[in-house]
Amino acid sequence: MTQMKPKKHRAPFECQRCNDCCQGRGGIFLEAGEIAAAAALVDLSPDQFIARHCRERDGRYEVLVGADGACGLMGPQGCRIHQAKPAICRRWPFFPGILANPSAFEDARQACPGIDPDISHEEFVAYARTQGYSEEKS
Ligand code: SF4
Ligand code: SF4
Repeated sequence: MTQMKPKKHRAPFECQRCNDCCQGRGGIFLEAGEIAAAAALVDLSPDQFIARHCRERDGRYEVLVGADGACGLMGPQGCRIHQAKPAICRRWPFFPGILANPSAFEDARQACPGIDPDISHEEFVAYARTQGYSEEKS
């Protein structure tokens, strides 16, 4: 009798550190209150950090990207300000639009190998809620 292979368990989301989501698409912004902590992680003063890594837009700071579109704060080991990365980076892939919209979820799943390819949108939303995220904008 052939035995069914047990389904390999994996978390609904587990970052694979491919860095694809750090390509600057759509803009990565730091709020003014987030600058000091980020600057300290790369041994810069807030002013130096802004001058080197940001462009000011409407009171917020857009992180500069390189010619290849990669976020300028990406280093060989990944995000250089990981412990103080912008809210938008911390939230991915649990964006409100992805939680609210199955087709946006499909797009995210295609783009992000960290999302379990077998999980349904409903399961993903339920998991997101356990992590404190909902369709509401925070
Ligand atoms: S695209 Fe997904 S798996 Fe890759 S670094 Fe970003 S969150 Fe992690
Ligand atoms: S700040 Fe860090 S996590 Fe956010 S896009 Fe840049 S390298 Fe990626």
